[in-house]
Amino acid sequence: MMLQRILQLKPNVRSLKTVSRYAYSSQAVTKQAIPEETSDIATFKVGEKIHGFSVKDIQKISEFNVTAICLLHDATKAEYLHLYRNDNNNVFSVNFRTTPMDSTGLPHILEHTVLCGSQLYPVRDPFFKMLNRSLATFMNAMTGSDFTMYPFSTQNYSDYRNLQKIYLDAAFRPNLNQTDFMQEGWRLENVDPKDKNTDLIIKGVVYNEMKGAFSENESILQQKLQNVILPDHTYGVCSGGDPLKIPDLTWEALKQFHKDHYHPSNCRIYSYGNFPLIPTLEYVNSEYLRKFEYQNPKHTVVPSQARWDKPKKEHVLCRFENMREPFEQQNSLTIAYLMNDITDIYETFLLQFVTELLIKGPNAPFYKSLIEPNISGGFTPSTGFDSQQRDTIFALGLQGLKVENFEKIEKLFDETIDSVIASGFQEQHIESVLHRYELGLKHESANFGLNLLFGLTPTWNHNGDLIMQLRCNDLIDKLKNQMKANPSYLQNVVKKYFKDNNHRLVLTMSPDKEYEQKQVNAEKELISSKVKPLSDQNKEEIFKKCLQLSEEQAKIDNTSILPTLSMNDISSEVPRVMKDKKKVGPVPTQVFKVDTNGITYFRGILSTSQLSPEQQMMLPLLSYVITKLGTDSLNYRDFDSLVNRKTAGLGVQTHIGDSLYQLHSYEPGLLISSYCLNHNIDYMWDLWSQIFNLSELKDVARFEMLVKLYMSNLTHGVADSGHLYAMLAAQGLVSGVAYQKDLLTGLEHISYMKRLVKTSNFTAILTELTNVAKILFDKNNLRCSLNILPENDLQSFEDFVNKLPGNSMNQAESAYTTTKIWAPTDSVNCHHHVLNVPVNYCSKSILTVPYTHQDYSKLQVLSKLCTSKFLHPELREKQGAYGGGLKLSMDGVLSFYSYRDPQNTQTLDTFDNTAKWLTDNLSNITEQEVLEAKLGVFQGVDSPVPPGAKGLNEFLYGLDTDILQRHRAALMAVNIEGLKQVTENYLINCDISKTGKVVLGPKNMDTTDRAEELWTVVENE
Ligand SMILES: [Zn+2]
Repeated sequence: MMLQRILQLKPNVRSLKTVSRYAYSSQAVTKQAIPEETSDIATFKVGEKIHGFSVKDIQKISEFNVTAICLLHDATKAEYLHLYRNDNNNVFSVNFRTTPMDSTGLPHILEHTVLCGSQLYPVRDPFFKMLNRSLATFMNAMTGSDFTMYPFSTQNYSDYRNLQKIYLDAAFRPNLNQTDFMQEGWRLENVDPKDKNTDLIIKGVVYNEMKGAFSENESILQQKLQNVILPDHTYGVCSGGDPLKIPDLTWEALKQFHKDHYHPSNCRIYSYGNFPLIPTLEYVNSEYLRKFEYQNPKHTVVPSQARWDKPKKEHVLCRFENMREPFEQQNSLTIAYLMNDITDIYETFLLQFVTELLIKGPNAPFYKSLIEPNISGGFTPSTGFDSQQRDTIFALGLQGLKVENFEKIEKLFDETIDSVIASGFQEQHIESVLHRYELGLKHESANFGLNLLFGLTPTWNHNGDLIMQLRCNDLIDKLKNQMKANPSYLQNVVKKYFKDNNHRLVLTMSPDKEYEQKQVNAEKELISSKVKPLSDQNKEEIFKKCLQLSEEQAKIDNTSILPTLSMNDISSEVPRVMKDKKKVGPVPTQVFKVDTNGITYFRGILSTSQLSPEQQMMLPLLSYVITKLGTDSLNYRDFDSLVNRKTAGLGVQTHIGDSLYQLHSYEPGLLISSYCLNHNIDYMWDLWSQIFNLSELKDVARFEMLVKLYMSNLTHGVADSGHLYAMLAAQGLVSGVAYQKDLLTGLEHISYMKRLVKTSNFTAILTELTNVAKILFDKNNLRCSLNILPENDLQSFEDFVNKLPGNSMNQAESAYTTTKIWAPTDSVNCHHHVLNVPVNYCSKSILTVPYTHQDYSKLQVLSKLCTSKFLHPELREKQGAYGGGLKLSMDGVLSFYSYRDPQNTQTLDTFDNTAKWLTDNLSNITEQEVLEAKLGVFQGVDSPVPPGAKGLNEFLYGLDTDILQRHRAALMAVNIEGLKQVTENYLINCDISKTGKVVLGPKNMDTTDRAEELWTVVENE
């Protein structure tokens, strides 16, 4: 599904798209989980008044095991939705409808600035300070195109109440100081803030963030698409802020926007989980809502977009991306339609369904007509149905195009619509999309309450019926009945929304080699237009104001007024999952018995240790194509159809399991995974059997197309995840494990694939992949894990395993590989990867110790401490990078990083200065500060795990309960002495051969003056 870009306060630390999609987390819960009976849900009655609220509606939603309570605040008409579910991972959020009418980034800069201090908590940046005084499982703030939301989640009740106070006070009573506005929004400042004779430039967190955001062409495309197809109101502007318009924003306008939009009458409050509701209602009312009077929110209402009477065309320019296709092939074309009103719940559901039918998988009409002719690099990521705004949008984009194909694609698109209207969709294709919906309702994700919130927010923002949206079974039933009653029902829908819809936009985009230079020139002009009118006295004032800002940034806050958790809030015990270990034939199998809601979760790891290094390099490509080429008995369309009618899909990906005991050591493998409803279990085993028994991969034409799609996916979004690529590349300079990951998932993999495609023919590659598959898909290479209900048996699994081929002599257990990758050197190994974007991603890595070493937990705590006390203030607040910090990877590498960073060498110096900062400051670090760093670590350790993923880290990495328990005890025991010791051992007396640096960013970085460093420039063309 297409999701409009939503800007977040904290960078989303996502994994690389080719890295394991399962988050690394262990299973543990925090204390004070409120048992079910303390929820006060049963005391609510419709019509009742409580703490200023009226209970409007109470509904049980059986598909989610949820009871929804809708409340309305009598005086202000603030809406409150509580979703009770017996889930510890409670959520709270305050949402506002924010509808700017210009592109100065008002709602986005306000979102940042309200979190810089409030009446109750007048400290700088309580949001970031609370990140380490809490056990939140999620904490962020987001700006969409017409809403701003402040959600968090936690499993701990005191934490829940603490964070609630911070969030509510920030939203309703922020300080909005001028220096906060300057820091977060924009300011003119001397290049050297200490020298008033240096040039003035523009700085600011959001200013830089947006420059970074628009360094992705995909963002330019999405923004333009929304602006053009919804031109008349708030969607015609950029809510995040256009970097060239942000400097038109004044502090006064920001304060006024807060008054107009952050009012209870324009507010929607959400809570979810099993904590009691009444104390929250009482607090919200007595501290905030009852102090306001009703203010009609009519100024934030977004009208429906007037429909066009004829289609439109637009063309935009974008950046040339040096890692992607050749210049002539970097064009894209998007065909978009304005669809229905989002508050028409059933229609939104129906159009989402029809979009999936049209687009998804090899049986979809648009896949057949537009992807299979192999004239593009596949669909753009924004392809799909977008129900984030008042009016929904269908968009289909193709990337990697030559301009001469534009016309042909439009023609093919229209012909496809005509043929769907004439002959409809295939029965089995409809069945597979419906099946996916039904399975989706049973499968539980890790952040269930947050996902419900994100799904409901756009509808709620326009006063849609939330109960109706939650009743998915009713929507599915209605759809089925309609299709039964009228065989051409779906055809009529397609005719109405496509063929007869004049609100159609064809948006084309082409790269421009001058794009970057034009941006630079525009920024220069902007600065000179700001600087020219300034008198000497004005300049003096600017200089002083900026000095004031940097003094405030350097000041040590009295954070003791902020609430905090203590070590007592953390359970010292790691909970155990019911587990069996057994061998099924030669296959070691772990069985986790959990409440899976009627689903069987399967995972297998195929050891790849017997492959040659060259064969290993092909694993990511093999993973991508192996389930997409058909099998001996089914062609790829029929195979895909069966997969989607019976399972949630077959996953294959490379697995590099870090050793817990030894540096440079890892388990190389291929992770296969799938899940299905219990009654489809035999189908699921049959599908995997077909993959294990593949005798030949031979459809070269289809393979060629898949490779093109793979390459296009691979090189997409490098800038968006630039910090992850830079970190992995830097880690790869010092760790054998990380080097292997970089080869298979990082920048090294991208350049390998480019070489492979250039120099080999497709028949030869496919033959080699067949050979690799035949070696690997063998039960003697396999170990498995199953998550099933306690009452389920293993009969069908045993039958499946027994029939698998078993020719290999391999032993799947203990198949670890160790590689050392460097020779001693007298300079730090450094790589500058060229990426033509206007921001940098810097990283420095230091090799330390494996996970089970006694120093590992100390280094984890040290990383958190350095991030919050030194790196975040230096890199984000002073230097204007969007994010930055220090992390410890599982293979024992300390990784410094910066995200969307205007600097490069200066940042590397900051990384290097961390050791000195620690030497100077560790003695003054308080117990509370150590505690905060520990809490920061525990947030990751104790994040919630859904039933389908319980035991996963034990299966993937051998992290069993005993190891987790020891690690937990070690973490709790970390003290200042320990931090001093690891600072001394790993940061101060750091061995040059164990250090690496990487900068990913624009060329011409000045590395000449950097002592003891050996830089290699990698062009990535
Ligand atoms: Zn932001």
